[in-house]
Amino acid sequence: MTYKIAVIKGDGIGPEIIESALLVLNKIADIYNHEFNYKFVLAGGNAIDETGVPLPQETIDICLDSDAVLLGAVGGPKWDHLPGHLRPEKGLLQIRQALGLYGNLRPTNVFKALKDASPLKPEVIGDNLDLLVVRELTGGIYFGNRGRSENAAFDTLEYSRMEVERITRLAFEVARKRKSKVTNVDKMNVLESSRLWREVVLKVAKDYPDVTLEHQLVDNAAMQLIRDPKQFDVIVTSNLFGDILSDEASMLTGSIGMLPSASIGDGTLGLYEPIHGSAPTIAGLNQANPLGTILSTAMMLRYSLNLDDEAKTIEEAVEKTLDQGYRTIDIASGGKVSTLTEMTEAVLDNL
Ligand code: NAD
Repeated sequence: MTYKIAVIKGDGIGPEIIESALLVLNKIADIYNHEFNYKFVLAGGNAIDETGVPLPQETIDICLDSDAVLLGAVGGPKWDHLPGHLRPEKGLLQIRQALGLYGNLRPTNVFKALKDASPLKPEVIGDNLDLLVVRELTGGIYFGNRGRSENAAFDTLEYSRMEVERITRLAFEVARKRKSKVTNVDKMNVLESSRLWREVVLKVAKDYPDVTLEHQLVDNAAMQLIRDPKQFDVIVTSNLFGDILSDEASMLTGSIGMLPSASIGDGTLGLYEPIHGSAPTIAGLNQANPLGTILSTAMMLRYSLNLDDEAKTIEEAVEKTLDQGYRTIDIASGGKVSTLTEMTEAVLDNL
């Protein structure tokens, strides 16, 4: 099969980690007899330098015409003096909006070999912890009416049935590809919007009798993530709660360079990127951890291209590489430090 992939290298370590990820994708193409056609497009700081804006229309058009979008990272001190609407990160917000990506998928995987990197005790983490936060990305309190007077300020938290229903369906669909359990997180004992949220979740759940559904109030969920993270498979929640819980969950791994993410909407088009930023201080030094981006390509194969075997092959190669002791600077604790190139070559060998 032939697939069209828009690639945004971005700034800082972006070009290096994308190069690693494309080497991995090319090898997958060889093994499974696929063709990935890459179109390189601009967003972020480099787009500002070349076109004057963080997200040129051409980038949006090419992304919309692709099967998936792969992104490195954007931003850096070079553009820090610019006003908000012209900053590199604005390009990211704009592209999610332009592509209608309302669901953010943030997995937390603790590989066995990295159990010691977690701030939690190994017995709490268990073997191969694997949970996924599905966060609503384009509604809720970040997008409601806001205002302030001299001595007061307000933000509005509003959700429509449609917004809750589509993110809930997404969570149930994703759960079916995993361990078939959804934990809905809300604050229905206090918030009216959460009562609507739960009502809709319960209604949607009727279409997924094969998926186990549980509910937790957000304060309890924050505690349970630390007390017993193994109990979770898929967590579905609103924009604000998801923002906080996904960062809390990512720290269970103890490392920022390892974690992938996906932003998806109604169709199969999605945007895939590591959760970390452009790490400008190590850009160009061959030190960056490419695994977050490589694992993002696995998510891309699974969720946008429906190539689950290929995705698993990448994840297993990454696991084997870690088992063999390869560690970039962000995950090395006292041992030998591997360069980005060494890490990438080890993954390619293990494929
Ligand atoms: P960052 O994630 O870039 O870096 C935080 C720390 O983690 C740094 O010490 C960095 O060296 C290290 N690090 C990050 N990724 C790494 C990797 N793959 N391998 C090894 N070490 C890694 O966050 P920051 O320093 O707050 O931000 C730097 C720039 O990135 C800023 O301009 C910020 O706005 C931007 N940013 C972009 C995104 C994105 O593109 N999605 C996300 C967050 C921050």
